[in-house]
Amino acid sequence: MSNIAARLINWQEQHGRHHLPWQGTHDPYAIWLSEIMLQQTQVGTVIPYYQRFLRYFPDIPSLSQAPLDDILSLWSGLGYYSRARHLYQAACIIVRDYHGTFPKERELIQQLPGIGRSTAAAIMVFAYGHRSAILDGNVKRVFSRYFGIDGYPGKKKVQDQLWLKAEESLPNGNSKKCHQVYTQALMDLGATICTRHRPQCHDCPLRSDCVAFKEKRTDQLPTAKPRVSLPKKETIFLILLKQKKILLEKRPDTGIWGGLWCLPEIHLEEDIGAYCTQHFKTEVRPLFNFPPLNHTFTHFKLRIHPRLLRITSQIDTQQEGKIWIEPDEALDKAIPTPVRKLIKQYVHSDNSINNTESV
Ligand code: SF4
Repeated sequence: MSNIAARLINWQEQHGRHHLPWQGTHDPYAIWLSEIMLQQTQVGTVIPYYQRFLRYFPDIPSLSQAPLDDILSLWSGLGYYSRARHLYQAACIIVRDYHGTFPKERELIQQLPGIGRSTAAAIMVFAYGHRSAILDGNVKRVFSRYFGIDGYPGKKKVQDQLWLKAEESLPNGNSKKCHQVYTQALMDLGATICTRHRPQCHDCPLRSDCVAFKEKRTDQLPTAKPRVSLPKKETIFLILLKQKKILLEKRPDTGIWGGLWCLPEIHLEEDIGAYCTQHFKTEVRPLFNFPPLNHTFTHFKLRIHPRLLRITSQIDTQQEGKIWIEPDEALDKAIPTPVRKLIKQYVHSDNSINNTESV
């Protein structure tokens, strides 16, 4: 067994995490779900979502038969909704191509939507006790520091080096338990000891030969992402009031926030009154301009100008892809983070706004 593996396994047994809800199961579906939810979200946030999701969709067939809107609603608040869409798509593929049984080969698992090499490996380890290397964000940090690997881990060359180290560090042998404990140890170490800021090196089983620790470079490794200035865009979001309800529109399935419910969005230079007349067959009365809200995507920055308006005509509220809904109920829908923030801001805003006369 590699030097690092033995130390990590010993450490995990004594100091690792043992009571997370997805530990102790070998159900590949449950493990897959936990891995996907944990990709961009903290454990503490994930736990209630994970448990609720499994209550609604206990297996792959039930997930594949659900309306996507229900799945996205259960995901509401976790963000990165493409993860939920991919889960659904993958569940449909598993039902169609594998009779609802999760595939057992890494290559097949990796072909499913939303599953990369590391996630596929984690499923192989925890569901089937396979000898597979993982390399999620936490593990990249541990290996960058322990082996002293310079360079941003998002770069292919650096990532290749890290994968090589991940493969070399695996325990030998076929003990399923050994591979599972080792993989859990890496995850636990990254999450609880070798943290992004202020790692607890004095409690770390790898301290004696960790390059970053020896060279006092824990704050320099892994190398930070090179700074790039993102393009900026501006837009207007309309909070349209009809009595106590607001209007949400469903976004097209593809593109930004695909399939989510959103406040109506218009171009900055567009005339709001003319837009509402054309699209909603109503005149509107401006009530209030909320302060601009900034939101950063991976490839651009969006500055949103929220406008609160009240409709002043009777309108047809039964239009496809549109719902009039109480703000509190809207928060349970699958809505993007800035829309969530704006609705909360509106709910907490001055009563005088809420109590303005209604149609
Ligand atoms: S010694 Fe410190 S930097 Fe090195 S792996 Fe352990 S916690 Fe991370």
